[in-house]
Amino acid sequence: MSKKIAFIGLGNMGAGMAANLVKAGFEVVAFDLSADALAQARDNGCSTATDAVTAVNGANYVVSMLPNGQIVENLYIHNDHLLNAIAKDALVIDCSTIAPENARNLISAASEAGISAIDAPVSGGVAAAAAGTLAFMCGGTEAACDAAKPVLEAMGANIFRAGDAGAGQVAKICNNMLLAIHMTGTAEALQLGMDNGLDPAVLSNIMLKSSGCNWSLEKYNPVPGVMDGVPSSNGYQGGFMVDLMLKDLGLAMEAALASRSSTPMGAAARNLYSLHKSSDQTDKGSKDFSSILELFAK
Ligand code: NAD
Repeated sequence: MSKKIAFIGLGNMGAGMAANLVKAGFEVVAFDLSADALAQARDNGCSTATDAVTAVNGANYVVSMLPNGQIVENLYIHNDHLLNAIAKDALVIDCSTIAPENARNLISAASEAGISAIDAPVSGGVAAAAAGTLAFMCGGTEAACDAAKPVLEAMGANIFRAGDAGAGQVAKICNNMLLAIHMTGTAEALQLGMDNGLDPAVLSNIMLKSSGCNWSLEKYNPVPGVMDGVPSSNGYQGGFMVDLMLKDLGLAMEAALASRSSTPMGAAARNLYSLHKSSDQTDKGSKDFSSILELFAK
């Protein structure tokens, strides 16, 4: 008999992830507050539930992909008390990007209820969610992370255990802070070159073979027209939104405060994205994060 998964939060990321679980042979029961998201889930082969408590009934795994830590804690612990409805032998896999503290609260509340849980935030955007090529960064006991593998392998290409509860979130925060730093640096360097008469495609090729080479330059050039199939060549639509990058940089700053770490580059990147979001009359929060180039453009 196929294993049953309750999947909660079928937005941009969750929709593709749940569809891949169906393709892998799991029975998926979906719940989302949005009727449109539920209709799409049905089109993708999920069955749907009218509320989260009904969705988790009899589930072997509960996977969530939700906007923020408050929503995750409210769902599982404070408001919906989902942990009371989940079977003791089920495994909770929260894939949302949330503060490590929220993840630890969830995992320890689950443990008190006799349920195993891990944090498993992802790297890779909507396209990787649809293609089943996400990277998962897991936090939790070795046994719980191992138990999550059959589910995660159906949605991702790389699965890492970063450490104990909350460690997946710490890894995700560090990664995205670095991403913001090299994207802002790449945009700054390319704009400097253009301001001094260089063709951005020529400069990009030079830096790709030189010591400035980095992921933003290789996979995600921020200058429109230099690279095909990336958000900069599509009006900065699709991809990873400025608002989500700001959320992740906010989590990085909170983590740095808590650990008394110095993160001057991360703080600069957060400020640059904040300036960029409101740099003219229009809110740029829904643009792709490579649009930071517009902050430097004259
Ligand atoms: P989204 O806003 O598209 O989807 C979130 C979904 O959760 C929505 O459909 C919403 O209706 C639903 N939801 C909210 N509260 C709910 C509740 N109480 N019960 C049931 N459903 C509820 O967001 P997304 O882009 O899919 O991102 C989800 C998570 O993944 C976030 O934590 C985000 O930071 C992270 N993430 C996103 C990307 C990306 O490129 N979009 C990449 C990596 C990680």
